[in-house]
Amino acid sequence: MRANKLDRWGVAWPWAPATLLGFAGTAGKNAPPAGVQLPPLPYDLNALEPFISVRTMSFHYGKHHQAYVDNLNKLTTGTPRAGQPVEKLVQETCGVAEQAGVFNNAAQLWNHTFFWHSMKSGGGGRPAGRLLEMIERSFSGFEAFKSAFVEAGVAQFGSGWVWLVQDGALLKIAKTSNADTPMAHGQTALITCDVWEHAYYLDYQNRRKDFLQMFVDHLANWDFAASQLK
Ligand code: FE
Repeated sequence: MRANKLDRWGVAWPWAPATLLGFAGTAGKNAPPAGVQLPPLPYDLNALEPFISVRTMSFHYGKHHQAYVDNLNKLTTGTPRAGQPVEKLVQETCGVAEQAGVFNNAAQLWNHTFFWHSMKSGGGGRPAGRLLEMIERSFSGFEAFKSAFVEAGVAQFGSGWVWLVQDGALLKIAKTSNADTPMAHGQTALITCDVWEHAYYLDYQNRRKDFLQMFVDHLANWDFAASQLK
């Protein structure tokens, strides 16, 4: 259970993180509606301009991310899975064919929340400290890592995600398809970039490589990545 980890993301959640992650609403007049809630963005919709437009953020967060929340609630309401934490749903439905709908929507809910925190205004540049040391040890240098991350994102066929994950003392780049997520497989994700077309098409059209290069150069939140290290 990593519910408390949300605290380390530095977000002023409007209600308890455990509730945000999918526990049923608590009793009381200020309780949120039952079911999973759309997590708040850690910044304003225009915070990532000029690199990601308000228009993209409005669709991506307000429509796509919201749809995963709504679909998950539709699929779980009235079932034993209602009110379960999102991470538990993802890990327990991974690879279960008849639960594919729950998995896809729960994993996309988690992935997008992780993605928003993987970026910040004034991001990019170089990490520091232990994270930089681990990157340099794992990839023969920070510039080599950035190139490998961008190339992995370009090489992901169709929709998916590119990740930096921790594997013991080393770091690795991982690609996942569609909703799949390292968290479902027990890996520790540090940072991610969404390479579904809806993430970049309005701003970059088919230029996925330009979007990924922009991500590592200008938006990557290395402080967040470092906070996820074990
Ligand atoms: Fe997306």
